Amino acid sequence: MARYTGAECRQCRREKLKLFLKGDRCYSDKCAFERRSFAPGQHGQARVRKVSDYAIQLREKQKVRRIYGMLEGQFRKYFEIAERIKGVTGENLLMLLESRLDNVIYRLGYANSRNQGRQLVRHDHIEVNGRKVNIPSFRVSINDVITLKEKSRKVAAINESLEAVVRRGVPSWLELDKDNYKGTVKALPSRQEITMPIQEQLIVELYSK
Ligand code: SF4
Repeated sequence: MARYTGAECRQCRREKLKLFLKGDRCYSDKCAFERRSFAPGQHGQARVRKVSDYAIQLREKQKVRRIYGMLEGQFRKYFEIAERIKGVTGENLLMLLESRLDNVIYRLGYANSRNQGRQLVRHDHIEVNGRKVNIPSFRVSINDVITLKEKSRKVAAINESLEAVVRRGVPSWLELDKDNYKGTVKALPSRQEITMPIQEQLIVELYSK
């Protein structure tokens, strides 16, 4: 799958929000947003002009797309699936994004960013219900058990991430058995458990034009 390969910190500055794309660095004083919280480019510090509704909706969509590390086409497909599911489209969209395996790996603490979670999945470190899964977009279901392969349990970066997960916590819809490198999906993610400041209704409005 294609993905954004530019500077990650630039995306946070563009969205004027810490998107936590670089793991430990995001929690340190090396975070670029802490030092320069204005948009990148020569007009980054220009006076803010009145922004249109369209611009506000677009920025919200871009922000969520960047948080989950997706390109436009794939994000749009998630929206179309969310529309077909019963319930509130915006909430369905967030539930689908949170249910991606790369995000679950990040949420469980095996990785300290979604990008790193994607790499772990791609590089065959992960099993779901005892079977190898190397597709980052794989959607987890209730009662799925996500484990690290035996050989991967010695990888220093993974163990460091697991130690650091205490800082951000594991959401209640997941359960982590750290000693056995085992995560269980107890429920589907609910809207309340997505704590980033996201106004998903704006994305629905944008795509409904
Ligand atoms: Fe964003 Fe700061 Fe992390 Fe860079 S270090 S990705 S600016 S939160």
